[in-house]
Amino acid sequence: MVSDNLKNVTQRIARCCEKCGRHPGDVSLICVTKEASVEASKEALAGGARFLGENRVQSAISKYRIIGDGASWHLIGHLQTNKAKEAVRIFSLIHSVDSAHLAGAINKEAVKIGKVQDVLVQVNVAGEESKFGVSPEKAKDLISELAQFKNIRLQGLMTIAPLVDDPERVRPYFRALRELRDHLNDKRYTINDIRHLSMGMTDDFEVAIEEGSTMVRIGRAIFGNR
Ligand SMILES: *Cc1c(COP(=O)(O)O)cnc(C)c1O
Repeated sequence: MVSDNLKNVTQRIARCCEKCGRHPGDVSLICVTKEASVEASKEALAGGARFLGENRVQSAISKYRIIGDGASWHLIGHLQTNKAKEAVRIFSLIHSVDSAHLAGAINKEAVKIGKVQDVLVQVNVAGEESKFGVSPEKAKDLISELAQFKNIRLQGLMTIAPLVDDPERVRPYFRALRELRDHLNDKRYTINDIRHLSMGMTDDFEVAIEEGSTMVRIGRAIFGNR
């Protein structure tokens, strides 16, 4: 049952926060509905979920048509420039900005509808070829460039850790993202302090919370394996 799973995950987040001295209110649960039906997504919302994460604009649109603003929609997957228009209309947060070109396209669409679009910069901390995201070295330049886009508000950083059996093995990547955020804030690469760290999925969210995650993106633990 989705609602039982949701309760269980929420409790695990709370317990983990308690263990590492963090406030559970500082960690948002993004329910990743990319493989879940509209019914299952609605069940999660009825069970108290607030944020739904989708990795493709197209599948988000079809769910959005039914569920609408009853959820806060997050784009967690790669965004193509030609989908920026639809993305800006639906998503309250885009987790996957990884180029100035894409940021420019998002900004342009946001200007058109008078919106300030919240975004995260996706960082490929582990340098995996299969993954999107900027390298930690290039994150600084990209973040400096974002300042020119008045209708984009940078809220933080996102990463996807490598797939491994033992979550302890991805701790260094989560730690590196936190250190990068702190460095960016210290050196004033950004206009405002950036706060958010979107990191942690079904297999590794507890380690991510211990390392400072403020948004965990969880699919399978709530909606089951496909
Ligand atoms: C699918 C996905 C998730 C959720 O993964 P689970 O292992 O099912 O929790 C999180 N983030 C991104 C970017 C995803 O594509």
